[in-house]
Amino acid sequence: MSESSALPPSPVAAILLAGGQGTRAGFAQPKQLESLGGKPVLRWSLDALAADRRVSVGVLVASHDVAAAAGFLPKGWIATDPGAERQQSVANALAALSDWPDEALILVHDAARPGLGAAVIDRLLAALDSADAVIPVLPVPDTLIEAEGAQAGDVVPRDRLARVQTPQAFRLGVLRRAHTEAAGSAATDDAQLVRSLGVAVATVEGDARLHKLTYAEDMAILSGLLGVRDMMRAAVGMGYDVHRLVEGKPLWIGGIKIEHSHGLEGHSDADVGLHALTDAILGALGDGDIGDHFPPSDPQWRGAASHRFLAFAGERVAANGGRIGHLDLTIVAEAPRIGPHRVAIRNRIAEILAIPAGRVSVKATTTERLGFTGRREGIAAQAVATIQLPEI
Ligand code: MG
Repeated sequence: MSESSALPPSPVAAILLAGGQGTRAGFAQPKQLESLGGKPVLRWSLDALAADRRVSVGVLVASHDVAAAAGFLPKGWIATDPGAERQQSVANALAALSDWPDEALILVHDAARPGLGAAVIDRLLAALDSADAVIPVLPVPDTLIEAEGAQAGDVVPRDRLARVQTPQAFRLGVLRRAHTEAAGSAATDDAQLVRSLGVAVATVEGDARLHKLTYAEDMAILSGLLGVRDMMRAAVGMGYDVHRLVEGKPLWIGGIKIEHSHGLEGHSDADVGLHALTDAILGALGDGDIGDHFPPSDPQWRGAASHRFLAFAGERVAANGGRIGHLDLTIVAEAPRIGPHRVAIRNRIAEILAIPAGRVSVKATTTERLGFTGRREGIAAQAVATIQLPEI
């Protein structure tokens, strides 16, 4: 075998399976397109395989829509249509690699496992030096039992069991033969097809980060395993607003109605505090300002309750895959005194945005009787919003 080390390494191709619709997971779109740390789930595996210098060619098996939504294909990659079953999808990819030699190595990976790292690829390719098929496996940590309806049955010995992950690695010729001879069966696993030829399948240590995305709650597990929280960027926006005080109008500040001789004048309810907050959030999103989304010229916003504007801004944060980190609002008023209402305003803002009150700060100041606020002609508000957004 010492001579083999002098031979050039076998070329390596990859098949990335992203054909499933993921409907059982309860996602609104195919699960391989769910955003994980700001990029589609399937993009994680695509980028990891493309970044591996040994992998020179790849086939993405995905519908046209899914492939388009995943973004550009890396150099050396092509896309092909999925089949009705997983086995047919692999067969389609093998057909796309028909000019590759049997001696080449092939990695077959499931896009629903985004946590692909170089170390597991290293172990798989190293094991192919002395095997024609290799799969990554992990031990079973939980006690397993036979289920007899709603009753617990006997314990199944764990030491004889292992959890199978992907990528699975093969000599290309062996995988081709397995698919040719098993055409028409519905294997869920390429290694089982290869075993049915009588070819031994070796195992290497898998990787906990190769956790499979099956259910919606797996997104939180994957976020933790892959550390995507670290990949959020902080965006800060500021908002400023002023409204004129007039006699005999209701006074709304920060979503709270405050008893006072004067109220604020404006097209909506003129809640100066919520307007400043709305603009701060839109500013952090780079999404225009309150007037762009709720034009004063539009009669439907006449007298509107401003909590709708703030709730809209909060929905825009969520729609961008972000979350509100912190809000800091300062009310500038000579009268009435805002201090006694600060806690109520803080709680109301948290309620409108459905965030913990601990992420909201409300402060108040006067201007020492100077300027328009000091002369009680109007009330001003300033706000700063800190938003966590996915890294672009
Ligand atoms: Mg305003």
